[in-house]
Amino acid sequence: MSTENFQVAIVGAGPAGLLLAIRLHQAEVSFSIFEGRTREQLLQQQGRSLDLHPRSGLAALDACGLKSAVFAHARQEANGVTVTDKRLQSWFSYPGGSRNPHVDREDLIQLLVDAVPAENFRWNHKLERVDQDNSLLFRDGSRSEPFSFVVGADGAWSRVRAALSPRLPEYTGIAGQTFVVTNRSALDSPILRNMPRTGSVFSFSDKKAFIVHYMSKDRASVTLFQTDYKPPDRGAEIDPVDEIKRTRRLYEDWDVQFVRLLEHVDPASMESWQLHMMPLDFDWPVNPCCIVIGDAASLRSPFGGEGVNLALQDAFELSGTLITAAKAPANKRQQILEQEVSKFQRTMLDRGHLAQKLAKDMQAAMMDSSTAPRGTVADWVMQRARYEFSFKSKWWRMMLPILDIGVHAYYAGVRLLR
Ligand SMILES: Cc1cc2nc3c(=O)[nH]c(=O)nc-3n(C[C@H](O)[C@H](O)[C@H](O)COP(=O)(O)OP(=O)(O)OC[C@H]3O[C@@H](n4cnc5c(N)ncnc54)[C@H](O)[C@@H]3O)c2cc1C
Repeated sequence: MSTENFQVAIVGAGPAGLLLAIRLHQAEVSFSIFEGRTREQLLQQQGRSLDLHPRSGLAALDACGLKSAVFAHARQEANGVTVTDKRLQSWFSYPGGSRNPHVDREDLIQLLVDAVPAENFRWNHKLERVDQDNSLLFRDGSRSEPFSFVVGADGAWSRVRAALSPRLPEYTGIAGQTFVVTNRSALDSPILRNMPRTGSVFSFSDKKAFIVHYMSKDRASVTLFQTDYKPPDRGAEIDPVDEIKRTRRLYEDWDVQFVRLLEHVDPASMESWQLHMMPLDFDWPVNPCCIVIGDAASLRSPFGGEGVNLALQDAFELSGTLITAAKAPANKRQQILEQEVSKFQRTMLDRGHLAQKLAKDMQAAMMDSSTAPRGTVADWVMQRARYEFSFKSKWWRMMLPILDIGVHAYYAGVRLLR
Protein backbone atom coordinates (compact mmCIF):
# COMPACT_ATOMS: atom_id res chain seq x y z
CA MET A 1 0.00 0.00 0.00
CA SER A 2 1.42 3.43 -0.92
CA THR A 3 2.10 5.77 1.99
CA GLU A 4 3.28 8.64 -0.21
CA ASN A 5 0.35 10.99 0.37
CA PHE A 6 0.60 10.59 4.15
CA GLN A 7 3.27 13.01 5.41
CA VAL A 8 4.25 13.25 9.07
CA ALA A 9 5.98 16.27 10.68
CA ILE A 10 7.92 15.53 13.86
CA VAL A 11 8.89 18.62 15.85
CA GLY A 12 11.88 18.08 18.18
CA ALA A 13 14.88 15.75 17.88
CA GLY A 14 15.02 14.61 21.51
CA PRO A 15 14.68 10.92 22.44
CA ALA A 16 10.92 10.86 21.61
CA GLY A 17 11.16 12.58 18.21
CA LEU A 18 14.19 10.57 17.12
CA LEU A 19 12.76 7.18 18.08
CA LEU A 20 9.53 7.99 16.23
CA ALA A 21 11.59 9.03 13.18
CA ILE A 22 13.48 5.71 13.24
CA ARG A 23 10.26 3.69 13.36
CA LEU A 24 8.66 5.67 10.51
CA HIS A 25 11.83 5.30 8.45
CA GLN A 26 11.88 1.53 9.05
CA ALA A 27 8.22 1.32 7.94
CA GLU A 28 8.85 3.57 4.89
CA VAL A 29 6.40 6.26 6.03
CA SER A 30 7.25 9.78 4.75
CA PHE A 31 8.32 12.22 7.44
CA SER A 32 10.42 15.31 8.21
CA ILE A 33 11.93 16.03 11.62
CA PHE A 34 12.26 19.72 12.55
CA GLU A 35 14.75 20.59 15.30
CA GLY A 36 15.22 24.08 16.74
CA ARG A 37 18.95 23.62 17.26
CA THR A 38 21.71 22.86 14.79
CA ARG A 39 23.00 19.29 14.53
CA GLU A 40 26.24 20.35 16.28
CA GLN A 41 24.38 22.01 19.16
CA LEU A 42 22.21 18.94 19.67
CA LEU A 43 25.15 16.52 19.69
CA GLN A 44 27.34 18.72 21.90
CA GLN A 45 24.93 18.80 24.81
CA GLN A 46 26.32 16.62 27.56
CA GLY A 47 25.95 16.11 31.27
CA ARG A 48 23.36 13.47 32.09
CA SER A 49 23.32 9.76 32.59
CA LEU A 50 20.01 8.07 31.73
CA ASP A 51 18.70 4.89 33.29
CA LEU A 52 16.89 2.75 30.67
CA HIS A 53 14.08 0.53 31.95
CA PRO A 54 13.45 -2.91 30.37
CA ARG A 55 9.64 -2.60 30.32
CA SER A 56 9.58 0.82 28.60
CA GLY A 57 12.59 2.71 27.18
CA LEU A 58 14.81 -0.31 26.58
CA ALA A 59 11.91 -2.31 25.08
CA ALA A 60 11.26 0.53 22.59
CA LEU A 61 14.94 0.68 21.59
CA ASP A 62 15.01 -3.12 21.26
CA ALA A 63 11.99 -3.04 18.92
CA CYS A 64 13.96 -0.63 16.68
CA GLY A 65 16.91 -3.04 16.60
CA LEU A 66 19.06 -0.67 18.68
CA LYS A 67 19.48 -2.66 21.88
CA SER A 68 22.99 -3.93 21.11
CA ALA A 69 24.11 -0.42 20.02
CA VAL A 70 22.81 0.95 23.34
CA PHE A 71 24.55 -1.79 25.29
CA ALA A 72 27.82 -0.96 23.51
CA HIS A 73 27.70 2.47 25.25
CA ALA A 74 25.99 1.40 28.46
CA ARG A 75 27.43 0.96 31.92
CA GLN A 76 25.60 -2.06 33.24
CA GLU A 77 27.55 -2.35 36.47
CA ALA A 78 26.92 1.27 37.39
CA ASN A 79 23.22 1.42 38.08
CA GLY A 80 23.10 1.33 41.86
CA VAL A 81 21.59 4.13 43.92
CA THR A 82 22.67 5.46 47.30
CA VAL A 83 20.79 8.08 49.29
CA THR A 84 22.71 10.01 51.93
CA ASP A 85 22.20 13.06 54.09
CA LYS A 86 24.51 16.08 54.19
CA ARG A 87 26.89 14.26 56.57
CA LEU A 88 27.27 11.48 53.95
CA GLN A 89 25.41 9.06 56.19
CA SER A 90 23.75 6.46 54.00
CA TRP A 91 19.97 5.97 54.34
CA PHE A 92 19.30 3.77 51.36
CA SER A 93 21.49 1.68 49.13
CA TYR A 94 20.59 -0.43 46.14
CA PRO A 95 23.57 -2.19 44.53
CA GLY A 96 21.94 -2.43 41.09
CA GLY A 97 22.06 -5.21 38.56
CA SER A 98 22.51 -5.55 34.83
CA ARG A 99 18.87 -5.15 33.73
CA ASN A 100 18.80 -1.32 33.67
CA PRO A 101 21.74 -0.08 31.59
CA HIS A 102 22.88 3.52 32.13
CA VAL A 103 23.82 5.50 29.06
CA ASP A 104 24.98 9.10 28.69
CA ARG A 105 22.40 11.29 26.99
CA GLU A 106 24.93 12.42 24.39
CA ASP A 107 25.65 8.78 23.38
CA LEU A 108 21.95 7.93 23.17
CA ILE A 109 21.19 11.00 21.03
CA GLN A 110 24.17 10.27 18.76
CA LEU A 111 23.11 6.70 18.05
CA LEU A 112 19.49 7.74 17.44
CA VAL A 113 20.54 10.58 15.08
CA ASP A 114 22.79 8.14 13.17
CA ALA A 115 19.80 5.82 12.58
CA VAL A 116 17.72 8.54 10.83
CA PRO A 117 18.57 9.41 7.18
CA ALA A 118 20.25 12.86 7.04
CA GLU A 119 17.80 14.10 4.36
CA ASN A 120 14.84 13.80 6.76
CA PHE A 121 16.28 16.37 9.21
CA ARG A 122 15.43 20.06 9.09
CA TRP A 123 18.01 21.50 11.51
CA ASN A 124 17.80 25.00 12.96
CA HIS A 125 14.02 25.14 12.40
CA LYS A 126 12.49 26.56 15.57
CA LEU A 127 8.72 26.16 15.46
CA GLU A 128 6.59 29.17 16.33
CA ARG A 129 3.15 27.60 15.82
CA VAL A 130 1.08 24.96 14.06
CA ASP A 131 -1.62 26.53 11.88
CA GLN A 132 -5.18 25.26 11.30
CA ASP A 133 -4.22 23.60 7.99
CA ASN A 134 -1.39 21.69 9.79
CA SER A 135 1.35 23.78 8.19
CA LEU A 136 4.24 24.87 10.42
CA LEU A 137 5.31 28.47 10.94
CA PHE A 138 8.92 28.89 12.10
CA ARG A 139 10.61 31.63 14.16
CA ASP A 140 12.47 32.91 11.08
CA GLY A 141 9.12 33.53 9.32
CA SER A 142 9.39 30.55 6.93
CA ARG A 143 6.46 28.17 6.54
CA SER A 144 6.12 24.49 5.58
CA GLU A 145 3.53 22.78 3.41
CA PRO A 146 0.55 21.34 5.33
CA PHE A 147 1.24 17.90 6.85
CA SER A 148 -1.17 14.96 7.23
CA PHE A 149 -0.12 14.58 10.87
CA VAL A 150 1.97 16.74 13.24
CA VAL A 151 3.73 15.24 16.28
CA GLY A 152 5.04 17.56 18.99
CA ALA A 153 8.09 15.94 20.57
CA ASP A 154 9.40 19.39 21.43
CA GLY A 155 9.83 18.98 25.16
CA ALA A 156 8.78 21.04 28.17
CA TRP A 157 7.99 24.30 26.35
CA SER A 158 6.32 22.64 23.39
CA ARG A 159 4.93 24.99 20.74
CA VAL A 160 2.87 22.17 19.20
CA ARG A 161 1.01 21.77 22.52
CA ALA A 162 -0.36 25.30 22.10
CA ALA A 163 -2.38 24.03 19.08
CA LEU A 164 -4.11 21.51 21.38
CA SER A 165 -4.47 23.27 24.72
CA PRO A 166 -3.70 26.65 26.33
CA ARG A 167 -2.34 24.96 29.49
CA LEU A 168 1.30 25.47 30.44
CA PRO A 169 3.79 23.79 32.79
CA GLU A 170 3.71 24.98 36.40
CA TYR A 171 6.85 25.89 38.35
CA THR A 172 7.64 23.38 41.14
CA GLY A 173 9.59 25.96 43.15
CA ILE A 174 12.81 23.99 42.60
CA ALA A 175 15.71 25.27 40.52
CA GLY A 176 19.28 24.16 40.00
CA GLN A 177 22.20 23.38 37.74
CA THR A 178 24.06 20.42 36.26
CA PHE A 179 27.84 20.45 35.82
CA VAL A 180 30.29 17.86 34.50
CA VAL A 181 33.40 16.83 36.44
CA THR A 182 36.20 15.70 34.13
CA ASN A 183 39.08 15.71 36.61
CA ARG A 184 39.92 12.05 37.30
CA SER A 185 41.34 12.73 40.75
CA ALA A 186 38.08 14.46 41.71
CA LEU A 187 36.30 11.17 41.07
CA ASP A 188 38.27 9.78 44.02
CA SER A 189 36.05 12.00 46.17
CA PRO A 190 34.80 10.02 49.17
CA ILE A 191 31.27 10.81 47.93
CA LEU A 192 31.95 8.35 45.10
CA ARG A 193 34.90 6.30 46.34
CA ASN A 194 33.09 4.85 49.35
CA MET A 195 30.43 3.49 47.01
CA PRO A 196 32.42 1.85 44.23
CA ARG A 197 29.57 -0.06 42.59
CA THR A 198 27.17 2.81 42.79
CA GLY A 199 25.99 4.70 39.73
CA SER A 200 24.28 7.57 41.48
CA VAL A 201 24.54 9.22 44.87
CA PHE A 202 21.53 11.31 45.88
CA SER A 203 22.24 13.50 48.92
CA PHE A 204 19.35 15.42 50.47
CA SER A 205 19.16 17.78 53.46
CA ASP A 206 17.79 21.25 54.29
CA LYS A 207 15.43 21.14 51.24
CA LYS A 208 18.44 20.92 48.94
CA ALA A 209 19.83 18.12 46.78
CA PHE A 210 23.34 17.24 45.62
CA ILE A 211 23.18 14.47 43.01
CA VAL A 212 26.22 12.76 41.48
CA HIS A 213 25.97 10.35 38.53
CA TYR A 214 28.90 8.40 37.15
CA MET A 215 29.27 8.95 33.40
CA SER A 216 31.39 7.27 30.75
CA LYS A 217 34.97 8.38 29.92
CA ASP A 218 35.98 8.97 33.57
CA ARG A 219 33.46 11.75 34.12
CA ALA A 220 30.65 12.43 36.54
CA SER A 221 27.76 14.87 36.51
CA VAL A 222 26.84 16.93 39.55
CA THR A 223 23.27 18.23 39.75
CA LEU A 224 22.25 20.68 42.47
CA PHE A 225 18.65 21.52 43.32
CA GLN A 226 17.45 24.14 45.77
CA THR A 227 13.97 25.11 46.92
CA ASP A 228 14.91 28.46 48.42
CA TYR A 229 16.26 30.10 45.29
CA LYS A 230 14.51 32.54 42.97
CA PRO A 231 16.15 31.76 39.62
CA PRO A 232 16.82 34.38 36.96
CA ASP A 233 14.20 34.64 34.20
CA ARG A 234 14.27 31.92 31.53
CA GLY A 235 16.81 32.73 28.85
CA ALA A 236 18.64 35.29 31.05
CA GLU A 237 22.46 35.24 30.94
CA ILE A 238 23.97 33.49 33.98
CA ASP A 239 27.71 33.57 34.69
CA PRO A 240 28.70 29.95 35.55
CA VAL A 241 31.63 31.04 37.73
CA ASP A 242 29.36 33.29 39.85
CA GLU A 243 26.83 30.47 39.98
CA ILE A 244 29.43 28.01 41.30
CA LYS A 245 30.49 30.53 43.98
CA ARG A 246 26.86 31.07 44.98
CA THR A 247 26.10 27.36 45.23
CA ARG A 248 29.30 26.62 47.17
CA ARG A 249 28.02 28.97 49.87
CA LEU A 250 24.73 27.04 49.98
CA TYR A 251 26.53 23.76 50.73
CA GLU A 252 29.10 25.17 53.18
CA ASP A 253 27.58 23.48 56.23
CA TRP A 254 27.43 20.09 54.45
CA ASP A 255 30.27 17.56 54.62
CA VAL A 256 33.38 19.22 53.21
CA GLN A 257 33.50 16.66 50.36
CA PHE A 258 30.52 18.27 48.65
CA VAL A 259 32.19 21.68 48.37
CA ARG A 260 35.46 19.99 47.33
CA LEU A 261 33.73 18.22 44.47
CA LEU A 262 32.23 21.55 43.37
CA GLU A 263 35.78 22.90 43.03
CA HIS A 264 36.32 20.45 40.16
CA VAL A 265 33.23 21.08 38.05
CA ASP A 266 33.71 22.47 34.56
CA PRO A 267 31.95 25.90 34.48
CA ALA A 268 31.51 25.66 30.69
CA SER A 269 29.37 22.54 31.13
CA MET A 270 26.71 24.30 33.23
CA GLU A 271 23.06 23.71 32.38
CA SER A 272 20.47 25.58 34.46
CA TRP A 273 17.11 24.13 35.40
CA GLN A 274 13.85 25.51 36.68
CA LEU A 275 11.82 22.39 37.29
CA HIS A 276 8.29 22.57 35.92
CA MET A 277 5.47 20.03 35.67
CA MET A 278 2.34 19.82 33.56
CA PRO A 279 -0.77 19.82 35.79
CA LEU A 280 -1.66 16.29 36.95
CA ASP A 281 -5.05 16.45 35.18
CA PHE A 282 -3.63 17.72 31.87
CA ASP A 283 -5.64 16.46 28.88
CA TRP A 284 -6.98 17.91 25.61
CA PRO A 285 -9.76 17.11 23.09
CA VAL A 286 -8.52 14.41 20.68
CA ASN A 287 -7.24 15.83 17.39
CA PRO A 288 -6.86 13.18 14.64
CA CYS A 289 -4.12 15.22 12.89
CA CYS A 290 -1.92 16.38 15.78
CA ILE A 291 -0.60 15.14 19.13
CA VAL A 292 2.20 15.75 21.63
CA ILE A 293 4.33 13.03 23.25
CA GLY A 294 7.16 12.71 25.81
CA ASP A 295 7.83 15.74 28.01
CA ALA A 296 5.51 17.87 25.85
CA ALA A 297 2.59 15.70 27.06
CA SER A 298 3.49 14.73 30.61
CA LEU A 299 6.37 16.89 31.85
CA ARG A 300 7.38 16.06 35.40
CA SER A 301 10.29 16.89 37.68
CA PRO A 302 13.15 14.36 37.43
CA PHE A 303 12.71 12.97 40.98
CA GLY A 304 10.89 9.84 39.72
CA GLY A 305 13.52 9.16 37.01
CA GLU A 306 11.05 7.95 34.33
CA GLY A 307 11.39 10.80 31.78
CA VAL A 308 13.40 9.33 28.94
CA ASN A 309 11.70 5.95 29.29
CA LEU A 310 8.21 7.39 28.90
CA ALA A 311 9.37 9.54 25.97
CA LEU A 312 10.70 6.45 24.13
CA GLN A 313 7.63 4.36 24.98
CA ASP A 314 5.22 7.11 23.82
CA ALA A 315 7.10 7.40 20.52
CA PHE A 316 7.16 3.66 19.97
CA GLU A 317 3.42 3.23 20.60
CA LEU A 318 2.46 6.26 18.49
CA SER A 319 4.53 4.90 15.60
CA GLY A 320 2.21 1.85 15.48
CA THR A 321 -0.83 4.13 15.06
CA LEU A 322 0.82 6.25 12.36
CA ILE A 323 2.13 3.26 10.41
CA THR A 324 -1.33 1.64 10.43
CA ALA A 325 -2.91 4.89 9.19
CA ALA A 326 -0.24 5.46 6.53
CA LYS A 327 -0.67 1.98 5.09
CA ALA A 328 -4.48 2.10 5.10
CA PRO A 329 -6.48 3.13 2.00
CA ALA A 330 -6.77 6.95 1.92
CA ASN A 331 -10.57 6.84 2.42
CA LYS A 332 -10.17 4.87 5.69
CA ARG A 333 -7.39 6.96 7.24
CA GLN A 334 -9.48 9.60 8.95
CA GLN A 335 -11.58 6.98 10.74
CA ILE A 336 -8.51 4.97 11.78
CA LEU A 337 -6.78 8.08 13.10
CA GLU A 338 -9.84 9.22 15.06
CA GLN A 339 -10.08 5.84 16.80
CA GLU A 340 -6.42 5.02 17.26
CA VAL A 341 -5.18 8.48 18.29
CA SER A 342 -7.91 8.61 20.92
CA LYS A 343 -6.91 5.19 22.34
CA PHE A 344 -3.21 6.05 22.26
CA GLN A 345 -3.76 9.43 23.93
CA ARG A 346 -5.70 7.84 26.82
CA THR A 347 -3.04 5.18 27.43
CA MET A 348 -0.19 7.70 27.18
CA LEU A 349 -1.79 10.22 29.54
CA ASP A 350 -2.79 7.59 32.13
CA ARG A 351 0.80 6.32 32.14
CA GLY A 352 2.14 9.89 32.22
CA HIS A 353 -0.11 10.92 35.12
CA LEU A 354 1.09 7.94 37.16
CA ALA A 355 4.73 8.94 36.57
CA GLN A 356 3.95 12.60 37.30
CA LYS A 357 2.41 11.63 40.63
CA LEU A 358 5.47 9.49 41.43
CA ALA A 359 7.80 12.41 40.66
CA LYS A 360 5.68 14.82 42.71
CA ASP A 361 5.54 12.49 45.74
CA MET A 362 9.24 11.55 45.64
CA GLN A 363 10.15 15.21 45.24
CA ALA A 364 7.94 16.16 48.22
CA ALA A 365 9.49 13.43 50.39
CA MET A 366 13.03 14.69 49.85
CA MET A 367 12.72 18.40 48.98
CA ASP A 368 9.71 19.67 50.97
CA SER A 369 10.58 18.24 54.38
CA SER A 370 13.23 19.66 56.69
CA THR A 371 13.65 16.17 58.24
CA ALA A 372 14.66 14.49 54.94
CA PRO A 373 16.09 11.98 54.43
CA ARG A 374 16.01 10.67 58.02
CA GLY A 375 12.30 11.30 58.58
CA THR A 376 11.03 10.64 55.06
CA VAL A 377 13.13 7.87 53.50
CA ALA A 378 10.56 5.16 54.36
CA ASP A 379 7.82 7.11 52.50
CA TRP A 380 10.22 7.68 49.59
CA VAL A 381 10.96 3.94 49.32
CA MET A 382 7.26 3.08 49.46
CA GLN A 383 6.33 5.63 46.78
CA ARG A 384 8.69 3.88 44.38
CA ALA A 385 7.46 0.43 45.47
CA ARG A 386 3.80 1.41 44.92
CA TYR A 387 4.64 2.66 41.43
CA GLU A 388 6.58 -0.50 40.51
CA PHE A 389 3.88 -2.77 41.96
CA SER A 390 1.21 -1.02 39.87
CA PHE A 391 2.69 -2.87 36.85
CA LYS A 392 2.48 -6.23 38.62
CA SER A 393 -0.39 -8.64 39.26
CA LYS A 394 -2.98 -8.05 41.98
CA TRP A 395 -1.24 -10.72 44.11
CA TRP A 396 1.87 -8.59 44.26
CA ARG A 397 -0.21 -5.51 45.01
CA MET A 398 -1.84 -7.32 47.94
CA MET A 399 1.66 -7.56 49.49
CA LEU A 400 2.04 -3.77 49.57
CA PRO A 401 0.50 -3.12 53.04
CA ILE A 402 2.84 -5.75 54.54
CA LEU A 403 5.84 -4.24 52.76
CA ASP A 404 4.76 -0.78 53.96
CA ILE A 405 4.71 -1.91 57.60
CA GLY A 406 8.07 -3.68 57.18
CA VAL A 407 9.81 -0.69 55.57
CA HIS A 408 8.51 1.79 58.16
CA ALA A 409 9.43 -0.57 61.03
CA TYR A 410 12.93 -1.05 59.58
CA TYR A 411 13.57 2.70 59.34
CA ALA A 412 12.10 3.31 62.81
CA GLY A 413 14.71 0.83 64.08
CA VAL A 414 17.52 2.46 62.10
CA ARG A 415 16.58 5.89 63.50
CA LEU A 416 16.63 4.53 67.06
CA LEU A 417 20.13 3.14 66.57
CA ARG A 418 21.55 6.37 65.08
C1 LIG B 1 17.91 18.01 35.45
C2 LIG B 1 17.21 16.90 34.76
C3 LIG B 1 17.62 15.61 34.99
C4 LIG B 1 16.98 14.54 34.35
N1 LIG B 1 17.39 13.29 34.63
C5 LIG B 1 16.73 12.25 34.08
C6 LIG B 1 17.11 10.91 34.39
O1 LIG B 1 18.05 10.66 35.15
N2 LIG B 1 16.40 9.90 33.84
C7 LIG B 1 15.36 10.13 32.98
O2 LIG B 1 14.74 9.18 32.50
N3 LIG B 1 14.99 11.38 32.66
C8 LIG B 1 15.64 12.44 33.19
N4 LIG B 1 15.25 13.70 32.88
C9 LIG B 1 14.12 13.89 31.97
C10 LIG B 1 14.48 13.60 30.51
O3 LIG B 1 15.61 14.35 30.13
C11 LIG B 1 13.28 13.97 29.62
O4 LIG B 1 12.11 13.37 30.17
C12 LIG B 1 13.45 13.47 28.19
O5 LIG B 1 14.59 14.06 27.60
C13 LIG B 1 12.20 13.84 27.36
O6 LIG B 1 12.43 13.58 26.01
P1 LIG B 1 11.62 14.37 24.88
O7 LIG B 1 12.13 13.84 23.59
O8 LIG B 1 10.17 14.32 25.18
O9 LIG B 1 12.03 15.92 25.07
P2 LIG B 1 13.45 16.64 25.04
O10 LIG B 1 14.54 15.71 25.42
O11 LIG B 1 13.28 17.89 25.83
O12 LIG B 1 13.67 17.02 23.50
C14 LIG B 1 12.92 18.06 22.88
C15 LIG B 1 13.63 18.50 21.61
O13 LIG B 1 12.80 19.46 20.96
C16 LIG B 1 13.57 20.58 20.56
N5 LIG B 1 12.67 21.74 20.55
C17 LIG B 1 12.15 22.38 21.61
N6 LIG B 1 11.36 23.39 21.22
C18 LIG B 1 11.39 23.38 19.86
C19 LIG B 1 10.76 24.18 18.86
N7 LIG B 1 9.95 25.21 19.19
N8 LIG B 1 11.00 23.90 17.55
C20 LIG B 1 11.81 22.86 17.20
N9 LIG B 1 12.43 22.07 18.12
C21 LIG B 1 12.22 22.33 19.43
C22 LIG B 1 14.66 20.68 21.62
O14 LIG B 1 15.79 21.40 21.13
C23 LIG B 1 14.96 19.19 21.88
O15 LIG B 1 15.95 18.70 21.01
C24 LIG B 1 15.89 14.79 33.48
C25 LIG B 1 15.48 16.10 33.23
C26 LIG B 1 16.11 17.15 33.87
C27 LIG B 1 15.64 18.56 33.63
